[in-house]
Amino acid sequence: MVQTRGSKMTNNTKALYKSRTDFQPQLDTFKRRTLRQMENVQTPYYPICVKDLISIKVCPLCRNSHIVPIAQVYLKDRFTFFSTGVCQSCGFVFRTISPSYAWFQKRWRQIRTDSLEPFNPAIEKIRRRRYMQYLRLIRKYKPSGSLLDIGAANGTGSALLHEYGYDVNCIEPEDNKALIITNKHGLPLVANDIEKFLNRTSIKQYDVVVFAHCLEHLDNPVKVMRKIRRAIKPDGLLYLEVPIMKNFVTWSDALYLTHKSNFTKETLTYLTETCGFETLETRRFRHSRSEPLDFGMVLRPIQNTFKSIKSIKKITAKDIITICNLYRRGLPPAFRNFPAKILRYEVNAIEQFYCTLRLDHKSLKVPADPNGAITFEQHS
Ligand SMILES: [Zn+2]
Repeated sequence: MVQTRGSKMTNNTKALYKSRTDFQPQLDTFKRRTLRQMENVQTPYYPICVKDLISIKVCPLCRNSHIVPIAQVYLKDRFTFFSTGVCQSCGFVFRTISPSYAWFQKRWRQIRTDSLEPFNPAIEKIRRRRYMQYLRLIRKYKPSGSLLDIGAANGTGSALLHEYGYDVNCIEPEDNKALIITNKHGLPLVANDIEKFLNRTSIKQYDVVVFAHCLEHLDNPVKVMRKIRRAIKPDGLLYLEVPIMKNFVTWSDALYLTHKSNFTKETLTYLTETCGFETLETRRFRHSRSEPLDFGMVLRPIQNTFKSIKSIKKITAKDIITICNLYRRGLPPAFRNFPAKILRYEVNAIEQFYCTLRLDHKSLKVPADPNGAITFEQHS
């Protein structure tokens, strides 16, 4: 619910909404704690220019070129560095403009601490619990063997799988985290960059690949999923898990730089089928009380690649409205009703490579002109 400051609403107070309580994005525990830790890192801002951006004009999932724009984030000089759209045909939500992988690499270097401690050890407890649930699912089908953990983060989950007898290799792009995997847990890191790894001419095939909370961060989910089959033995399996859009998206996701796509159960199922996998089992997980509901799939590569794939169900105009309204959750009433113009956010600088801004230090300022941009005011 949106509340204004003070009991008497003047025009000014109506226009000024505090982010601390009302606009706190529904981040999971992991992200919220990481963000809190990152505030202690002395980085005034993260610079960006046009060569740092990638732009996608057709739906990566169904190749449709009609993309309904949802939101746009730009700097004061109208330089748009982040924009979100939804495919009018299949309903896949993705970033039409976003910072490239190379830009993130530079940012990770900026926050590198050389410390072998994760940002917050408490979050690793949650990660361990999460991997314990993956383990229960995986070992029903593959009780032992080689395992590749893609997006292993601080390696806590990989270490758990290693404890239970799997021969674990990791992939992790962030420098800080990769150091913890190799130097603290002593596990082999086979690559930093997943796409480069999958493009290698020859790669080892694993009995199990764990790919959890990673796909939504990658620029080419379809390309990556197609290639991931190459890293799995013909009788091996893939554990895939992503957060589901309707469970976590609010207005602030339009500023959330590290999410490149948002999945529904339908778009994810279509993606896995079209990329040559069949589903053995699915599971919904809420890994902690404050985390959103996630969707996990145990998949195996289909050997008969000629198997016909049903085309993805076309969505309706009503579905588009529902999706666009997710990005209006928590906004003042003037912005809540769709159809409306694209949501525009103007920011002074990128202060965080996650949420763009330190939202808990900001108030949202609604423009007098309904076509104007939403801006942010610093509060103490
Ligand atoms: Zn599409």
